[in-house]
Amino acid sequence: AKSRGRNNVQIFHPSMLHATQQRSRTAAELRNAIENGELLLYYQPVVELATGRIIGIEALVRWVHPTRGMIMPESFIPVAEETGLIVDLGRWVLQEALQQLKSWNDVAPLPSQLKLHLNLSAAELLRNDLLEDIARSLERRGIDPGRLVFEITETVLMTRETEEAQVLGKIRGLGVGLQIDDFGTGYSSISYLRSLPADTVKVDQSLIEGMDNDAGQQTFVAAVLQLIESAGLQAIVEGIETAEQVSQLRRLGCRFGQGYYFGRPLPAAETVALLNSPLPS
Ligand code: C2E
Ligand code: CA
Ligand code: CA
Ligand code: CA
Repeated sequence: AKSRGRNNVQIFHPSMLHATQQRSRTAAELRNAIENGELLLYYQPVVELATGRIIGIEALVRWVHPTRGMIMPESFIPVAEETGLIVDLGRWVLQEALQQLKSWNDVAPLPSQLKLHLNLSAAELLRNDLLEDIARSLERRGIDPGRLVFEITETVLMTRETEEAQVLGKIRGLGVGLQIDDFGTGYSSISYLRSLPADTVKVDQSLIEGMDNDAGQQTFVAAVLQLIESAGLQAIVEGIETAEQVSQLRRLGCRFGQGYYFGRPLPAAETVALLNSPLPS
């Protein structure tokens, strides 16, 4: 009882109380933000390393708060996930991003290889109208399901919940792509690589950080890329910031990448110029 008492003292530490209040304020405000149109999507290119050709575009949500200014997803996605607001947020992201894709395509037909990547949280898999919403939203705009890829963290994909696994299978059944996100940051990823209903893997930035001058790290990245390939999956390395990283990854046979080196996330109006032109490689 004594040790529990000590733990309780820690739990109710004033700074944590403040954090809790901050969270519930954020949750309340976020609920309004979704309705009031305070959310905005930025888009970041995914490129073919050899050519700089754009093969995808990832939508990343931003919250333009009336008084706090631009809020980054790390500050509100976890709150949205805890409160279930992620479901409404995800609904909005799907509609907004598909509408944007259609608008771009109406202006100038998009390159056939270009895919739209959307991040999907675990809680969204249990939303009962998810499949219907995806299928209808695509159909309504005449968008081929093959144009869409959902990025899902491996923690979600590793779930043993059959219900969630079934939903993933059904998403694939629609012809929509599934990608493992943040690969290399979770646990026991390796054993699950082959059994997951995914076709691409996004290798986390932390694996290539410091690879520039570290031969050991380069060998390690090479092994990770081989592992992904041996599982029959395609690798995309994220968080590429330097030309040196690009040339090393190319040398290791990595075909696709994403990162500030190729382009930071940008608002839709600034993204459109990238869609039909190659980037530096
Ligand atoms: P993520 O899916 O792993 O997205 C990559 C994050 O790394 C993005 O941060 C991106 O801006 C950043 N990034 C890209 N290239 C580089 C680089 O070269 N260097 C560095 N240092 N960072 C780079 P962002 O936009 O702040 O998003 C953070 C996370 O929030 C995302 O991580 C994703 O997990 C989540 N998120 C964003 N939008 C959504 C959404 O619509 N739905 C859901 N469920 N989650 C989202
Ligand atoms: Ca992602
Ligand atoms: Ca990621
Ligand atoms: Ca991440």
